[in-house]
Amino acid sequence: MEQISVFDIFKIGVGPSSSHTMGPWKAAQLFLEEIDFLDLNQLEVHLYGSLAKTGKGHGTDIAVQLGLMGYDPKTIPVEEIDTAIEDIKVNQALFVGERIRIPFNPNEQIVFHFDKTLEAHPNALTLKAIHQSGKLVEQTYYSVGGGFITTDDTQESETRVDIKFPVQWGEELLKWCEQEDVSIHELLWINEQAWRPKEEIYLKLDEIWETMKQCVFRGCNRKGILPGGLNVKRRAFEMNSQLSEGKVFDHVDDWVDYIKSLQVGFSETLKWVSCFALAVNEENASFGRVVTAPTNGASGVIPAVLMYYALFSEEASQEGIRNFIMTAGEVGSIFKKGSTISAAMGGCQAEIGVSSAMAAAGLTECLGGNPQQALMAAEIAMEHHLGMTCDPIGGLVQIPCIERNTMGAIKAITACQIALNSDPKSALVSLDDVIKSMWETAVDMNTKYKETSEGGLASQISVIVPEC
Ligand code: SF4
Repeated sequence: MEQISVFDIFKIGVGPSSSHTMGPWKAAQLFLEEIDFLDLNQLEVHLYGSLAKTGKGHGTDIAVQLGLMGYDPKTIPVEEIDTAIEDIKVNQALFVGERIRIPFNPNEQIVFHFDKTLEAHPNALTLKAIHQSGKLVEQTYYSVGGGFITTDDTQESETRVDIKFPVQWGEELLKWCEQEDVSIHELLWINEQAWRPKEEIYLKLDEIWETMKQCVFRGCNRKGILPGGLNVKRRAFEMNSQLSEGKVFDHVDDWVDYIKSLQVGFSETLKWVSCFALAVNEENASFGRVVTAPTNGASGVIPAVLMYYALFSEEASQEGIRNFIMTAGEVGSIFKKGSTISAAMGGCQAEIGVSSAMAAAGLTECLGGNPQQALMAAEIAMEHHLGMTCDPIGGLVQIPCIERNTMGAIKAITACQIALNSDPKSALVSLDDVIKSMWETAVDMNTKYKETSEGGLASQISVIVPEC
């Protein structure tokens, strides 16, 4: 059984895509461990399948170069990205692993194989290092969604541990919760301690929440046009200004306190939740710092629903926020084990659908729902995303992606409310049924709807995205 920690599902990094940016970035970082730096002569990058078709729009080439330079997506100052890439272009040289500068022409040494897809996975890249001694080191990596990387020989390399309550399907999760008489997050607190001590878990959960909150705040305070050539205007700024009646805040916590002090009705709540999601995904589209949740394209859903919980719920607490993330993470990992969180494998149901299901379960537990109701909420949220295709215009994670996060967030809140007011015993469809249906739909889905930008909206609107 695959072992997935909540911190494999939630990763702090850089937009715009977990599978097309974070995964290839991680592959390049891993490849550095294979290189003999003293003898290195040349590097080559080969992108296949969806990584070739939408790689430009998703910044795959940029991510691989940053990874080869030794930058980490969690810590890189995002404002340095443009300069670092420009430096390679101007000097035709790459400072590999911050150790050795070698000649590198991105136009020649990064090859987009538009007509070739490797059999093992639609998101594949091969990295080659040619040494002066003639030695060739070559490795193919598959970016299988959510920033996870595999090779032909290895699965994701998280250290294997003895988890007390192993879970593959929702049914097992419910069985453990019932047997131990605990909630989902209580069970998760026990399982997570197989990887790290409790104090570290607290710190990491709080870091995730803080990063999400800062991302929402940054997105609400930036105006202008998103990069990439589609000329998409940022909208969170104006929405936030209108909702905040033009007030300006220097610090995120002052802004949060202000929103909490407002008397918000139904339509304002909808606007705020939409504004939060737009803000995150506008940041994601512009190489901003985001939390993969479970992907970058869908990284606005969970922060928007968490903000809804933290700002508009009477029950909200720091503990509740941590438990929300735990429960949502476990639901995400069940989807990954039973189906996929890769849009190149399953379309947008695997991104927005899964994030909506995760958020629905997290919110339900925090608002007092039992484990059955939490999984019922996850099932409802996914049920109404089944079959959703991935068709980003121009290969950019902007249209329909940014607005789609608002829809995923609102559906999660609705699913939570339905579940909280239902008896799960009377539900005809279980979470496991919907996960299996999602996978069957993914298998049957035409390739042009799986992050290739060859079908759907992407084929209706013809844009020429400039080379950058
Ligand atoms: S359409 Fe959905 S799955 Fe595809 S890139 Fe956009 S958010 Fe991701």
